[in-house]
Amino acid sequence: MDCIFCQIASNAITGKRAYEDDQVVAFYDNNPQAPTHILIIPRQHIATTNELELNHSPLIGHMVLTATKLAKELSLAEDGYRLVWNCNRQGGQAVYHIHLHLLGGRAMRWPPG
Ligand code: C5P
Repeated sequence: MDCIFCQIASNAITGKRAYEDDQVVAFYDNNPQAPTHILIIPRQHIATTNELELNHSPLIGHMVLTATKLAKELSLAEDGYRLVWNCNRQGGQAVYHIHLHLLGGRAMRWPPG
């Protein structure tokens, strides 16, 4: 298993988890870009958002709802937060297993860099 996020999902590599269930794992980013920075990943290996198809819709919906649930639990919801998907080189993707960034706890700039 070469994929670092598959290893995190299977617990071969441990990280501080915020949430997990049979479909997704949420863990704290090891190089946080905000006071709260959590990654929500599917247990299923999907390299980029380009590989998503219609049958992935429930999984993607579950990833988003996991992020919003955590945002509420971590008291980020009222002030606001940012959800980010990076895709491929120009999108800034470094790990080729899709992941949803949940960033909060500071004001975000726009446009993103
Ligand atoms: O969207 P992108 O692919 O650039 O984001 C990958 C994220 O995964 C980075 O924020 C990086 O800090 C995080 N990461 C991590 N633990 C690892 C490898 C990467 O939290 N072992």
